[in-house]
Amino acid sequence: MAEREVFWNISNHWLFYFLSAVAMLIFIGGCYRNIYTWFKGWPFEGRPDAGAVVGALVKNVFGNAKIFLDDIFGGLTHVFIMWGFFVLFVGTAMSAFDDYIVHYLRGGVYKAYALSLDIFGLVFVAGVIMAVIRRYVIKAGKMNNRSEDIIVLLLLAAIGITGFLIEGFRFVAQPPPWMNWSPVGAVLAGVLGGKATVWHVTAWWVHVGLSLFLIGYLPFSKLFHVIAGAVNVALETMPPDVLTLEEREKIEEEFSRRHIIAGDACTRCNRCETKCPSNLSGEALSPRAMNQRIKDYVKEKYSISRMVQVMLKKEVPEMSREGVFKGEEAWMCTTCRACVEECPLSIDNLDIIRGMRGLKVEEGTEVPAMVGDTLESIFKYGNPYQGQKNKRAEWAKELGLKDIAKGETAELLYFVGCGASYDDRLQKIAQSAVGVFKKVGLDVGILGNKESCCGDPAKRLGEDGLLEEVISKNYELFEQYGIRDMVMTCPHGLKMFREEYPRYQKKLEIETEGTVNPQHYTELLARMLTEGKLKFSKELGKRVTYHDPCYLGRHLGIYEAPREILKAIPGVEFVEMKRNRRNSLCCGGGGGRLWMEEFEAREKISEMRARDAAEVNAQVLVTCCPFCMSMMEDAVKTAGYEDAIEVKDLLELIEGLL
Ligand code: SF4
Ligand code: SF4
Repeated sequence: MAEREVFWNISNHWLFYFLSAVAMLIFIGGCYRNIYTWFKGWPFEGRPDAGAVVGALVKNVFGNAKIFLDDIFGGLTHVFIMWGFFVLFVGTAMSAFDDYIVHYLRGGVYKAYALSLDIFGLVFVAGVIMAVIRRYVIKAGKMNNRSEDIIVLLLLAAIGITGFLIEGFRFVAQPPPWMNWSPVGAVLAGVLGGKATVWHVTAWWVHVGLSLFLIGYLPFSKLFHVIAGAVNVALETMPPDVLTLEEREKIEEEFSRRHIIAGDACTRCNRCETKCPSNLSGEALSPRAMNQRIKDYVKEKYSISRMVQVMLKKEVPEMSREGVFKGEEAWMCTTCRACVEECPLSIDNLDIIRGMRGLKVEEGTEVPAMVGDTLESIFKYGNPYQGQKNKRAEWAKELGLKDIAKGETAELLYFVGCGASYDDRLQKIAQSAVGVFKKVGLDVGILGNKESCCGDPAKRLGEDGLLEEVISKNYELFEQYGIRDMVMTCPHGLKMFREEYPRYQKKLEIETEGTVNPQHYTELLARMLTEGKLKFSKELGKRVTYHDPCYLGRHLGIYEAPREILKAIPGVEFVEMKRNRRNSLCCGGGGGRLWMEEFEAREKISEMRARDAAEVNAQVLVTCCPFCMSMMEDAVKTAGYEDAIEVKDLLELIEGLL
């Protein structure tokens, strides 16, 4: 009957058990050390929802779904290695169970088992070869190579190949009648020869030695992502932590548990960097490098040698955070979320960078002067534009709009936002919004001079105290005037009201009688279009492309509503830019960068985006975010496309066509 003796031709079993015990001890010690450092971060609140965690694990861990996005070869490489290794590992465990507990691998079961292991063994070796080609021949994605990368790949390849050699030499020495159920071993037996029993025992010990080395090495290498990555994917089903100023002042930890786990989860695959607009423009920011610097700092701070020195009460020098902290990179982030979208393990580098900004603001170190001025302006005037409070509604004075703060009533509040209130160019968006709302029959009012900043710049720039004050005041204002339904032209404000405010409301225990329901005008108009309430009466006759604002698209998932409206305009020739939807390139103005000096770069981010529009011969570049409008209108001029491309907000485009 088909079966296999596990320790055939192998003596000195005690050595195998001894080495296994050593490897397991090192593995457990390494995992303990890593997980110990996780608990050196501040704790997260709440628990992930079990259903969401299972869904995320199935999709992004077992299914490798995000690895396949825009990179089929990379996805296949990882799937082959991961699933090949997993099946071989399970096969080894089954063999141990068969040998020590119940002998069930016999006859047909054994044949199916042997065939499966050979197939998945081949898949595994093929995956490792593909990884070598991808990393060192094709050099996909500007991968950040370290010596551990080649060590890991050679180790995996050697384990796979020696596994097959053991099988081949065993068949040479003692061919069983069922050996064709192990086709790779059978083929190898046809080409191998010599002193098969000697070669078999040599290959066996090499295979076992390398496998045990891999087990011990795993927690100290990037292979630890098999554990930390799954934990990170599970945690990322929860919204980012909200740390109030009061909490921040009490805690001693510098980073959150989630940030530290993210460092261990990161495989340095560099996908984040290849999509980061700042990095693409030649600026110094690398989300991968920043994440890894935090990891190295935390690991050093809680290294075994430092801990032993503390235990022996020796003088231990203070750890300097300068290596993690120094430099302007944290300010270069546009908070576009491209890195989060791209990361196979959903690492939220954006939240990590925001945490770093928070520490810088708290310590007052390396905060650009203009950031300080912007935050001060919000504190003093309720807007980042240094605009007087009593001038906020000037843009609307000829429009006969209802002012809810003066006691007039309207079904819908138009929350204008700071840009469209104070910036001369952006005021035109607000004026077009009012024109469109009137034409489609919406009953809209504003809060006039009572309106104040939504807090987006304070949130993105890491000023928690100011942010909390802004949020509390806005809740008071909404309660005072009974604001419930709100339409907005600014996606940054929408993100604040839709996602951030409810989180802070809970944390700051702000009591309100009702909830605010904010929506972007594209959501509202797309709905009206479906209901037949938005109708166009004129043709445009132009080639139009659409720039996805990061806060509307990647942050809030609104990709289709603006496109539906655009495509419904008669005479529009709609064309997508190469980078669109989740792959869209940021305009460079988010994350407070609108109020910062330019950083040293090869090219401006906004000019790269203008080139995207020029490449598809667009006559009109449409967006629906005031920040994008500011950035892109400048960029088409400075990049030399002024005569070819007009930049318009969608509202400005449709106002004259209704
Ligand atoms: S953060 Fe994610 S995308 Fe970036 S290098 Fe690490 S694993 Fe790759
Ligand atoms: S959020 Fe955008 S700009 Fe910031 S690090 Fe990620 S990809 Fe780069």
